[in-house]
Amino acid sequence: MKDLNSPIQYLKGIGPKKAKLFHKIGIYTIEDLFYYFPRRYEDRRQFLSINQLKEGEFKTIKAKILSISEKESWKRKDFKILEVRVADETGEIFCVWFNQPYLKEYFKTGQDLILYGRIERYGKRLQINSPEFEIISKDLKESLDIGRISPIYPLPSGLTQRKFRQFIKSALDEYLTSLNDFLPYDLRSRNNLLNLAKAILNIHFPEDFNLQKQAYERLSFEEFFLFQLPLALRKLKKYQKPGIAHHSEGKLLKDFILHLPFKLTPSQVRVIAEIKSDMAKPYPMHRLLQGEVGSGKTIVAASSSLIAIESGYQVAFMVPTEILAKQHYAVLGSWFSGLSNKIRMGLLTSSLSQKEREKMLEEIKAAKIDLIIGTHALLEEEVEFKKLGLVVIDEQHKFGVGQRALLPQKGINPDVLIMTATPIPRTLAITIYGDLDLSVITDLPPERKPVKTMHYFTYQRQEVYNFLKQQLKKGYQAYIIYPTIEETYRRNILNYNKEENLWSIVPSGIKGAKKMYETLKNTEFKDFKLGLIHGRLKQKEQDIMMQKFKEKKLDILIATTVLEVGIDVPNANIMIIEYAENFGLAQLHQLRGRIGRGKEESYCILISDLPTQEAKMRIETLIKYSDGFRIAEEDLKIRGPGEFFGRRQHGLSELKIAHPLTQMQLLKKARQEALRLVSKDPFFQLRQNILLKEKLLQRFPEYEKLVVVG
Ligand code: ADP
Ligand code: MG
Repeated sequence: MKDLNSPIQYLKGIGPKKAKLFHKIGIYTIEDLFYYFPRRYEDRRQFLSINQLKEGEFKTIKAKILSISEKESWKRKDFKILEVRVADETGEIFCVWFNQPYLKEYFKTGQDLILYGRIERYGKRLQINSPEFEIISKDLKESLDIGRISPIYPLPSGLTQRKFRQFIKSALDEYLTSLNDFLPYDLRSRNNLLNLAKAILNIHFPEDFNLQKQAYERLSFEEFFLFQLPLALRKLKKYQKPGIAHHSEGKLLKDFILHLPFKLTPSQVRVIAEIKSDMAKPYPMHRLLQGEVGSGKTIVAASSSLIAIESGYQVAFMVPTEILAKQHYAVLGSWFSGLSNKIRMGLLTSSLSQKEREKMLEEIKAAKIDLIIGTHALLEEEVEFKKLGLVVIDEQHKFGVGQRALLPQKGINPDVLIMTATPIPRTLAITIYGDLDLSVITDLPPERKPVKTMHYFTYQRQEVYNFLKQQLKKGYQAYIIYPTIEETYRRNILNYNKEENLWSIVPSGIKGAKKMYETLKNTEFKDFKLGLIHGRLKQKEQDIMMQKFKEKKLDILIATTVLEVGIDVPNANIMIIEYAENFGLAQLHQLRGRIGRGKEESYCILISDLPTQEAKMRIETLIKYSDGFRIAEEDLKIRGPGEFFGRRQHGLSELKIAHPLTQMQLLKKARQEALRLVSKDPFFQLRQNILLKEKLLQRFPEYEKLVVVG
């Protein structure tokens, strides 16, 4: 038997340098490699001929280059359009790339290419915009790269599709027989699932699409199942536990609502009532609060906290970033300052000094603090509560399932409220959040206008800047978002390898936040005050920057996606998102949620040259819709069933391959099986469940207690 946990270097051809590349994409062991799935496949057994192509479809073709030409955009000289005319025996088609002039170096007339992209028709002419491609050379392997269904992986620069396929192949040859199936046999046969080895083999090198489908189903089931097991365990155990019945008159809460500077929305009123009645019950509350960005979840959290505090308990409020922790601390502090009872609040983050930290820990332990707001620093072992009665987790999708489970363990079955802005249809949410009850905020605070969303090409950037200046002069503030901190020359996952003359993606430069801050501050916006914020700045520096922006000491904040969660500055009414094609739809929606928080008209400007069809559709969707649920649906449509593998966005970061929205039936089955298993064998003692237990604990070590001790 070979050890699947062997480091990746054990494979032939992977030295320390290559290994680093693998680490970059999360592959450390042979098993990781097995579980690194293709993002799509190309059927290279037989290529479609060009005269069979239909407009609107994504297809793979094989064709020869007839001619290569470069044009300038009629709008702007430095915007280059590269046209490569290719043909097979049945017809010809144009491949077009925008503003990537260096690409022409790599093509030669007479070369054979494999091309993939969406077929467009302009008049009589067929065209693919920005297709992905591999140049056919002699060393393409018949068995892996061509003449079969070939996998296409998401890869970093330095790793080619061809090489990667070879590594997968040799890992399969050597280790596949040592792979044990941890799903019990009876479960597999009940649900018609492939065994693990066959599934792994066919997800990488499918014999046919039917087997690929079965492999995909088996591996998705496995993910859903492992994901449902802890939920099932918790659900089982919840009602066996005594909880805290928070009996409070609600004096604090009434006082609080009365003194708010605005009226609660009907949803907020309803949701607070749901929580209040749940918290009064004698078993632990496990409740998910869903509400669009900007719908006002913070007030609900504050209200729930007051219920717990009035009945004599402490509250732990965990958020994913330090900036957000500070913001909540400040906002809640000011809301609570008008109350007749003093609420003792604390802020716990990793940037406290040793001394401050010790003092804070002591006060928490002695219940001298009622409400502690913090980052995942709250999860550390030394943090102990005297009377933890309520746990609130904001932006829950930023935490792993395991992390969410840790905080409540610091009390004796406290109530738990987790909050999310990730829009998921109700039925699905119930399944995904297995053991949770659901509260949903369905309306936005009044007087919110939808954000005006617009798209511009890079060559129109000056227009955007001019518009921005007008707005700044009126006293508004703006965000400019970049996808990266540093400049990069590779935009996404494809890559060209010169030695092998093999393409697997389109590289292109991105100006990073840091450099653009320097540039803009000294040129275009030298009359304004600019700030820069990104994840690699020290926490203190981030805070100072954010504070300055809030206090209107800055006009423009240049930022990366650190801004994605929670930040609330109503006077900021413009957001410019550069290289918008680099963001997913959900991410763009979250980012846009940072503006449009005041009564003023607000603007989200997406700058992108639309290098891919998908990017174009994403941006069109964002322009068309403002409702998060709607956007999630469109997102699914755009990527379609063939594009499952690129999924990163539903906040369910634990799921790599399974797709809850499109595999709802499978998810339900996995849930039933999980419930069935834990009710039969809650401590995984049966022999057929031993491997499963190992797997579960390997994935979620924090469940040790639940499974072993009970
Ligand atoms: P999210 O749900 O995204 O966490 P927040 O709680 O940050 O939203 O609220 C967004 C903004 O709306 C905040 O400035 C908040 O003060 C404001 N707000 C919340 N509820 C109301 C309301 N009922 N009326 C007016 N403004 C509100
Ligand atoms: Mg929030």
